[in-house]
Amino acid sequence: MKRILLIAVMLLPLGLSAQDKVVKNILELGRTDNRTMEYADYIARNIGGRLVGTHMLNHAEDWVAETFRSWGLEVTVQEAVEIGVGFDRGPWSGRMLSEDGMPLHFGTPAYTAGTRGPVKGRVFLEPKTRNEFERVKGALKGAWVLVETAPKNGLAIDSSPRADSLRASLLSEGKEGSVLLYKEMVDAGVLGFIRPAVAPMQVLYNRATCFDLTMDNLPKACDIILDERQFEIIKQKTVSRQDFLLEFDIRNHFFPGPMKHHNILAVIKGTKYPDEYVMLGSHLDAYDIATGSTDDGQGVCVTMETARLLAASGAKPKRSIMFCIWTGEEYGLLGSKYFVENKTVPWDKISNYFNRDGGPLAAVSVTVPPAMYDDFNEVCKPLFDYNPDIPFTVNKREGDPSPRPARAGGSDHAYFAINGIPTISFREKDVFGYDFNYRDIWHTEDDLFDKLIPAYMEHSAVVQAVTAYGIANLDHLLSRQGLYREQ
Ligand SMILES: [Zn+2]
Repeated sequence: MKRILLIAVMLLPLGLSAQDKVVKNILELGRTDNRTMEYADYIARNIGGRLVGTHMLNHAEDWVAETFRSWGLEVTVQEAVEIGVGFDRGPWSGRMLSEDGMPLHFGTPAYTAGTRGPVKGRVFLEPKTRNEFERVKGALKGAWVLVETAPKNGLAIDSSPRADSLRASLLSEGKEGSVLLYKEMVDAGVLGFIRPAVAPMQVLYNRATCFDLTMDNLPKACDIILDERQFEIIKQKTVSRQDFLLEFDIRNHFFPGPMKHHNILAVIKGTKYPDEYVMLGSHLDAYDIATGSTDDGQGVCVTMETARLLAASGAKPKRSIMFCIWTGEEYGLLGSKYFVENKTVPWDKISNYFNRDGGPLAAVSVTVPPAMYDDFNEVCKPLFDYNPDIPFTVNKREGDPSPRPARAGGSDHAYFAINGIPTISFREKDVFGYDFNYRDIWHTEDDLFDKLIPAYMEHSAVVQAVTAYGIANLDHLLSRQGLYREQ
């Protein structure tokens, strides 16, 4: 009897339920063997920019799919984006050739013309009227043109035939002076256009320029976005007719498509409700003036580590957990839109979709409608004191719900939300006060690996894993009561 009691007492601390054991493993692995930054190193420093239309994005897709498979997850590769012309970019460099010469700080969209080697040319100010154009058109051949009547927000100059006819009709309406004489200058043989921009520079897409391209209408002139301080120096030299040249070497390279891009969907299959899902996701595509380290490399890495922590902890959830690595977010949420609109998973079978896309910050809390509160509060309990430096809280939403969004925007949660699917997300915070400001680097040349904050990202993977696992193990889907105010 005594002996039996003793054995029972000894077993007591080990008498954890299977669920508790998995959570314990997640917390332990998250602390001692967290691999979030391994993926970040590969995505940001090995692969780099991952623009739709490039082989680098396809390479990243393959790597993500293989990595999920290596952890034993079921992977579906879902084609979601097709673009007619591909563009791979190589390095770019430029300098001012003069006594006071300098290396140039600039960017250029990958889907604009390159130079095929270093190209030197004189510099002209943009002719603003047809009269001015007539006066310089002979000299424009083989020259760079400083342009101020084009956007300064990092978008490419629209070189499509549609834009040419729009500019022509504006000119015929007497808008001379505020319309770029784009076609006229290209036909005159300019090397390219140079526009001023504030640093850190953004280099973005222009949907018309990328998606309407064919191998027969490729842009012919370079599209250069130059640090405004250098632009001003060069402009002054040009105005005072000093003798100098600019040299650019831009390795933008087009090739015939179609290029296809994919959502990578990885699943830990549910044991009891395999057709119901808890979903988490982030987007793999990224602008390529930098390396898409925060937007959204960090999200991809945290989502992947969430999956690995669960798989390595022996998670066998009742409901399926799906990890969605989206494509084409930057071009208008193309991957997640395709997934939702094609009902890849029926909308009423999704308990929640957690999106991570933003700064590399720590998930510190979640605010939920009253009808979800008890579930979240129970599920997140192991996180409350997991890391005393980053306390985690579950809050009940106060006040009325906001209306269900009518239009998509923001990030990949949008198409879920407009269709009434819960998209509760974690609030993220710069807990230790590292002076992180996402706006400073968002879509700019500064979105680099050194902006990542490992402690926050590693912590967030643990938060996501524990929460997703708990919600997948409930005996019901999360309540949608009071989620949105229906119109
Ligand atoms: Zn993003």
